[in-house]
Amino acid sequence: MFSSKESFQKNFLKRLEMTYGKTFRESTSRDQYNTLGIMVREYISSNWIQTNERNRAENNKQVYYLSIEFLLGKLMGQNLLNLGIRDVVQEGLEELGIHLEKIEESESDAGLGNGGLGRLAACFLDSLASLNLPGHGCGIRYKHGLFDQKIADGYQVEYPEQWLRHGNVWEVRKPDQCVDISFWGEVESREADGRLEFSHTAAETIVAVPYDMPMIGYQTNTVNTLRLWSAEPAHHPPLNRDLLSYKRETEAVSEFLYPDDTHDEGKILRLKQQYFLVSASLQSIIRSYRNKNGTMHRFHDRVALHINDTHPVLAIPELMRILLDEEKMEWDEAWEITVKTISYTNHTTLSEALEKWPVYLFKPLLPRIYMIVEEINERYCQALWERYPGDWNRIEQMAILAHGVVKMAHLAIAGSHSVNGVAKIHSEILKNREMKLFYGFEPEKFNNKTNGIAHRRWLLKANPELSDTITEAIGGDWVREPEALIQMKRFIYDAGMKEKTAQIKQLRKEMLAQKIYSQTAIKVDPESIFDVQVKRLHAYKRQLLNVLHIMYLYNRIREDSNFSVYPRTFIFGAKASPGYYYAKKVIKLINSLADKVNSDPKVSKMVKVIFMENYRVSLAESIFPAADISEQISTASKEASGTGNMKFMMNGALTLGTLDGANVEILEAVGPANIFTFGLTADQVLNYYENGGYRSTEYYHHDARIRQAADQLVNSFFHETEGEFEAIYDSLLAHNDQYFVLKDFSSYAEAQERVEQTFINRSEWQEKSLINIAHSGSFSSDRTIKEYSDEIWKIKPMIR
Ligand SMILES: *Cc1c(COP(=O)(O)O)cnc(C)c1O
Repeated sequence: MFSSKESFQKNFLKRLEMTYGKTFRESTSRDQYNTLGIMVREYISSNWIQTNERNRAENNKQVYYLSIEFLLGKLMGQNLLNLGIRDVVQEGLEELGIHLEKIEESESDAGLGNGGLGRLAACFLDSLASLNLPGHGCGIRYKHGLFDQKIADGYQVEYPEQWLRHGNVWEVRKPDQCVDISFWGEVESREADGRLEFSHTAAETIVAVPYDMPMIGYQTNTVNTLRLWSAEPAHHPPLNRDLLSYKRETEAVSEFLYPDDTHDEGKILRLKQQYFLVSASLQSIIRSYRNKNGTMHRFHDRVALHINDTHPVLAIPELMRILLDEEKMEWDEAWEITVKTISYTNHTTLSEALEKWPVYLFKPLLPRIYMIVEEINERYCQALWERYPGDWNRIEQMAILAHGVVKMAHLAIAGSHSVNGVAKIHSEILKNREMKLFYGFEPEKFNNKTNGIAHRRWLLKANPELSDTITEAIGGDWVREPEALIQMKRFIYDAGMKEKTAQIKQLRKEMLAQKIYSQTAIKVDPESIFDVQVKRLHAYKRQLLNVLHIMYLYNRIREDSNFSVYPRTFIFGAKASPGYYYAKKVIKLINSLADKVNSDPKVSKMVKVIFMENYRVSLAESIFPAADISEQISTASKEASGTGNMKFMMNGALTLGTLDGANVEILEAVGPANIFTFGLTADQVLNYYENGGYRSTEYYHHDARIRQAADQLVNSFFHETEGEFEAIYDSLLAHNDQYFVLKDFSSYAEAQERVEQTFINRSEWQEKSLINIAHSGSFSSDRTIKEYSDEIWKIKPMIR
């Protein structure tokens, strides 16, 4: 049905009528979108079935990527591209007088994630399928993804996200593959054949219903599966429960995504979600494994389970439970299989993000799982004792259970065979500082897997103009083999290529300027430097450093008539967790500053400030191609990797960044002449934390630029009510500026001057931009996934 324009049109019109009982002329964009989606689903269905069949028949090892978040964005465009039918569809629709882009707008973003961690999971699924690897995702089908953000009077307002309101054409509900999930109740023990056996009784059961989504690889027959679980009440609800409240509590389990990625809230519903995901996924994986293999003794030869951060770490005791209680295995064998099966990625060293569950919540909700965790802890501490006899202090620090809490990261390290960080510097910090004791005990577990991004989404799909130009220059191999982008180095000094890529950047800036105008009614100058900071709002990401620098520019332009800057448009996009007071104040501050700057006749000739609301994957796709400068200015040591930095680089933006996360590896790749770095190093920051010695007030007193801007947070400079930005002011001065904003200010301002000087020489800038593109191939998640597959999961590509 996609073999030619004509055959597509015929099928499309017929299905539109059949599905909606409408003629083409009566149909809406959404009808058309759904019709196209149904056709694509049908088109891939035999490959989807065959992928599953082959996996069954060949019995090759599968990896399951367990993640509490999958930030997929829109799927139609990527699916059409990967299937190689985008042009046929586009041309066919054009002739009918419809733009494919218009249809694509009808799709809601699948926003089942907060930011980097969830987007990484989505990029990994693209790479797994495109590399023909047998790898699948397991997640939760949240009814409401990350909230929709609106800005009202400068403040963030949150609305429930509604991605399923008009259905989801990509999912297939599989009610026949439901599993039961048990909470609460008691554990009973009894002797059987001289062995103590345990059973979970009087539990409250809910049903997990799988919804499968096809993960379509790039020009391959492989179609993997993302299985998302939805919570539904059992057919026979608990006898002693009020039916309505049971139903409500059950549905709540998959109702909302928690809108915070760096604060462990410690809410019981979150723990329920975690166990729900893990238990449903493991039961269904093991059910199909048993159907093929019978016993579980060689489970680890056929299945790898990966846990994305600690949220799914209950996979460890859950697998133990199944092996002990259902398979009747002995502890030692069960433990060996579990450790060999499970691998774990650490995503952060921020202490407030490390999950700790109080025993008083954990134990009653998951009584059998808690018993197993206790036993794991006991044996782990015993092993530590044998290795470090008498070293109580060390054992206490490393214990899984201590002081009334379960430490999820410790459980993850103890119960897996691989622990990886997500960028070189992050993995080193784990080994040498945060997880030093664990590294000392089991060094062989620790390794690095630098994050990557799906270049087929972030370059091929997001920036077709640049992609076409690259393909014309070096051929199309880079789409399958992103490292081939290095061949673009041949064109760094090629006048034609420089001109062409500069034109494309200009075009994309004009397109973004249009979008900004239609959303904010503000006209920005597409010739100005587009200086972009888009990411979650967090103190450690230091949007505030960017803001203070803009305030300094504002002040300087107004006060010094000899001072001018090259025109700049500062673009922000960021959601703040609804309960994160400081972050919401920074959003308000950005908007207040935007009002000041944009309405000042003198300043706004040179500087504009834009806040784009509701930052999400689909908006990101229109921002990255239009950026000149990529702001990656976290306090060194705090950003584990970052992936936004890679998306910018791949689209030819130059990084202005600290030596943090993957910025360090971007520097290694492009060389110091092609990136703007500044600020404290991670070692310096960590040494300050350990030894003290930083006093933010000194920087306030000795730097007039800082003093003026800081004072403006609390004097009448902003027209907001008094005290509006006091918390921000206090964070800098009363609380000694934990993130070294003032310390790094001067170095940042100098780096910004270097940016300006470099941009003025447009020819040189374009060379640097091309060098960034040429070296971006190693930041494709294809590279990352190959490393995981070879070194951790030990899985091989399926033969196509
Ligand atoms: C890539 C991405 C992120 C992660 O950005 P960082 O700058 O690495 O924090 C967050 N949100 C969305 C929508 C993204 O596409």
